Amino acid sequence: MTDFDEAALRTSLVKAYNQVENKGLMNQSSGNLSCRLPGGMLISCTGASAENLTEDRVVMVNDDGSFVGKLKPSTEWRMHLEVYRRQEKANAVVHTHSDYCVALACNNLPLPGFHYMVGLFGNSSVPCVPYSVFGSQELANDAAEGLTDQAACLLGSHGMICRGGDFDIAVGHAERLEIICKHYVLARSLGEPDLLTDEQWDEFFGRAQKVAYSNFI
Ligand SMILES: [Zn+2]
Repeated sequence: MTDFDEAALRTSLVKAYNQVENKGLMNQSSGNLSCRLPGGMLISCTGASAENLTEDRVVMVNDDGSFVGKLKPSTEWRMHLEVYRRQEKANAVVHTHSDYCVALACNNLPLPGFHYMVGLFGNSSVPCVPYSVFGSQELANDAAEGLTDQAACLLGSHGMICRGGDFDIAVGHAERLEIICKHYVLARSLGEPDLLTDEQWDEFFGRAQKVAYSNFI
């Protein structure tokens, strides 16, 4: 990022936080959002909610983990910062405990390629990384690694995290993952869903390139 406007990014973060809340993905303020900034990132403060989050309650965290101002960043700041360190495509990150993502994550189940929309995260499945206690560097490392080949991953016995080139893309992924996890839970209630074959995935990604689906990732 060379061109940025910190005030505009703070406003975008507050707006995106409210979108995630309004989409029903936030579950009692369990989530947190961030965006990349030269030298670090901006992230929602600890204790943030849709009612209390304003631009001046967004916290700047430097690359070295130090933060600016009196308010503390979300307890999951390590997880967000590690994503920006490892994933250069990430400019915005959303973490939530949305219902159907939690349902899979608490069975430590990945989301397999049972539906072609899974491919919109950039791969033929969405992994579930092992559980580690919230706020830990171990969780941060696993989550950042889980976003290497796809824009979203599940966090074992916890929730989900996704990245995007901007907030619109990241919030879209958070909503999409919740919907597709719901579809998977419903499909599994009827049996063991069929998975797309390797040939079908090749065909999907070939077509997705043509219609610029890859712009989402
Ligand atoms: Zn969490």
